[in-house]
Amino acid sequence: MSFLTIVKEEVRKNLSLYNTRTRKREVFAPVHPPHVGMYVCGPTVYGDAHLGHARPAVTFDLLFRYLRHLDYKVRYVRNITDVGHLEQDADEGEDKVAKKARLEELEPMEVVQHYMLRYHRDMDKLNVLPPSIEPLASGHIIEQIELVKKILERGYGYESEGSVYFDIAEYNKENNYGVLSGRDVEEMLSNTRELDGQSEKRNSADFALWKSAKPEHIMRWPSPWSQGFPGWHCECTAMGRKYLGDTIDIHGGGMDLIFPHHECEIAQAVASEGHEIVLYWVHNNMVTVNGKKMGKSLGNFITLEEFFEGSHELLTQAFTPMTIRFFMLQAHYRSTVDFSNEALQASAKGMERLMDAYRALDEMKTSAESGHLPIQDYFDACYSAMNDDMNSPMVIAQLFEAAKRINAAKAGDEAMGAEDVEGLKALFDTFLFEILGMQKPGEGESKGHEEAFSGAMELLLRLRAEAKSKKDWETSDKIRDELTRLGFEIKDTKEGAEWKLL
Ligand code: ZN
Repeated sequence: MSFLTIVKEEVRKNLSLYNTRTRKREVFAPVHPPHVGMYVCGPTVYGDAHLGHARPAVTFDLLFRYLRHLDYKVRYVRNITDVGHLEQDADEGEDKVAKKARLEELEPMEVVQHYMLRYHRDMDKLNVLPPSIEPLASGHIIEQIELVKKILERGYGYESEGSVYFDIAEYNKENNYGVLSGRDVEEMLSNTRELDGQSEKRNSADFALWKSAKPEHIMRWPSPWSQGFPGWHCECTAMGRKYLGDTIDIHGGGMDLIFPHHECEIAQAVASEGHEIVLYWVHNNMVTVNGKKMGKSLGNFITLEEFFEGSHELLTQAFTPMTIRFFMLQAHYRSTVDFSNEALQASAKGMERLMDAYRALDEMKTSAESGHLPIQDYFDACYSAMNDDMNSPMVIAQLFEAAKRINAAKAGDEAMGAEDVEGLKALFDTFLFEILGMQKPGEGESKGHEEAFSGAMELLLRLRAEAKSKKDWETSDKIRDELTRLGFEIKDTKEGAEWKLL
């Protein structure tokens, strides 16, 4: 737009991000501009996606979108953890994917495929762009074995009973284990009460690089040490280096991954390469539900699908994926986000206000006078908010400010020139849709309609089941016959009725 001055190269010089590693906000400068390499820890696929998956996905989608908007060429790698992610301290216990497979009598890769597809579907609904590369840990066993070999060669690992462990005491002689998390390594090393003489580890703080598989363990690969599987932390170090090279500009993930996962990744990189490979460590904060940490035992564990369908008892209605996305973006990514039915309802209203204002621009009667709104100021304020460690709530506040002016013009309280309308449209297009990644009115509707449609079908089938249980055959038959007439096939199974549109 001729009346706006936006020099992306200038904007980009002022982008600052909070670096967990230095505990400071730093100006973002990639090693090989305009290229940016970004690695984000993806999901372990053994269950449906929930808010804990949505938060990092939306956070780093925002960063991905913003960097691309600033004309950076971004290679965004987000992995799928499908092996070796053990429960508890990542050393003991059972592989989550294998456990799910055993419980459901499935091949582990069936579990992976099933939940990966569902994860992709949910991310697509949230308008999260797919990463440039999405590597699977199980497809990179060779790279992980090479990493373990290097660490052993450099003397930072040891073999024990077919497993390989990282030697933290040895590493810490010249390096600092705890550099990211700020944990006191001396305290960790002196805390040996977990060692009962039976352990394979020299120190309880040592973490597994390779685990020898017990006979009942299904997912296993040959290695120089044993038939087994890699330790969880290996995959991100190995795949990050494979696809992003010796320096990774941004490494992201949830704060819960700082320790031990990312601390271990740093140790592995330094132990194998002699130096750190990540420039900026960026972490999003956590999600709570009704003020509490989400947990299955607390009854507040809500999957994304349950939000989209409104099928959890803590919800009085369904919430569109865009409401979930907007709600998250209304908080800064380093603050916690507390989900509740009421807060989401308020958020949905706010979002509608912005969408209405955007729609109103199309029908705006413009006056002959030229523009008088401070469009340039709106743009500048939105850019400085984004440059201020991705302050999305500030961007949204600016958009609400602009929406106020649109509503005033709509009500005839102030005049708007053609330039104003054009400028405001560009403002919404750039920040609300391109950068914040919200869908334009109408765009996401078919997705929303699908949810409403299947929700209505479930309701009908539930009413039919209720009628049946009361032996009200007339009603239950009527529902089935009418649905059949409309082209649905209703099948009664042990788990209840299923439907299909023929
Ligand atoms: Zn990771």
